[in-house]
Amino acid sequence: MRILNEAQVTELLPMRACIELMASALAALSRGDAQVPLRSVMRLPRGHDVLAVMPAHTGDPEVLGAKIITVFPDNQSRGLDAHQGAVLLFHPRDGRLLALLDASAVTAIRTAAVSGLATRLLARPDAGTLALLGSGVQARTHLEAMAAVRQLRTVRVWSRTAAHAAAFAEWARAALGLEVMTCASAEEAVRGADIVCTVTSSREPVLEGAWLEPGTHVNAVGASQPDARELDSDAVARARLFADRRESLTHESADYQVPLREGRLRPDETVPELGEVVLGTVPGRRDADEITLFKSLGLAIEDLVAAQHVLERAEREDVGTVVPMLGTATSGAG
Ligand code: NDP
Repeated sequence: MRILNEAQVTELLPMRACIELMASALAALSRGDAQVPLRSVMRLPRGHDVLAVMPAHTGDPEVLGAKIITVFPDNQSRGLDAHQGAVLLFHPRDGRLLALLDASAVTAIRTAAVSGLATRLLARPDAGTLALLGSGVQARTHLEAMAAVRQLRTVRVWSRTAAHAAAFAEWARAALGLEVMTCASAEEAVRGADIVCTVTSSREPVLEGAWLEPGTHVNAVGASQPDARELDSDAVARARLFADRRESLTHESADYQVPLREGRLRPDETVPELGEVVLGTVPGRRDADEITLFKSLGLAIEDLVAAQHVLERAEREDVGTVVPMLGTATSGAG
């Protein structure tokens, strides 16, 4: 078994390559070439901390595995990523454990890469003004992903803690060479933006639909549990909605369930999946004025396809630590 830490995963999973991997993973899912059970989420007694188990299997290329991850939203104050855990890859023919990868890095990169794919497929080609709501781990990788798919002219960030927005802007200048304007309110960041990414741990809406201009594209990334929202009902009702997977959207997203219950969305309307847009069976943006909204819930297939790519590169380039681990027929059981 090969073990790959955060730095090694980050090095072996560049954003642009990951966007292409996510396109093929989501296309496979929408073709029916993958099994992805709904994740099992165990809530801990304190606060909003959870442990989630996310298994998946894909057919071509065959990948088998699971992500096991904790989400401790207050980890920022401890200097830790809110998402901690491992992606485990198993041999699809004999079940051997092949690899254990740091899940913080895989999650940070693959989530932004999926939003990058959504933006490439759905934002106006000339979209150049980006608003980020939130300034944490996902804000950083989202800035990188948005810059990979669109020519950014203006970037604005709003964060609940003003000092965190300022630190984000400093990081963006040093790490990516991008100038980022800090905003005093979410509304100030969003008004006039072509692309909006909501990447907060808020449980209440941070984005109001009234602030969105015609033609905006929104990536809604936080609130991946059915008791948290980042978007008000107007934002969802005004937009043409896309999902990473319909089953996850209907089961796991209050951003979808609440406006549906309020009668703001039509229950008989099929929400398209991003993979269907990749496959060309559903059109992406239809005109320059449409507001498009990608609701990201996060899928194990995204983790596994990214992890498989990292493992193949690590084997070729001899990166990581190899630990002999084999359940042989003579090692006993029980
Ligand atoms: P971080 O802890 O790194 O950052 C959290 C951000 O949310 C900070 O900018 C923080 O602001 C902001 N925030 C926290 N509480 C509130 C609030 N009540 N109102 C407004 N803003 C708030 O988290 P990540 O960047 O790793 O994750 C961001 C979100 O994305 C989380 O909800 C996470 O669960 C979700 N996520 C979704 C994935 C998917 O696949 N869809 C995958 C991974 C994460 P400040 O620091 O300024 O106080």
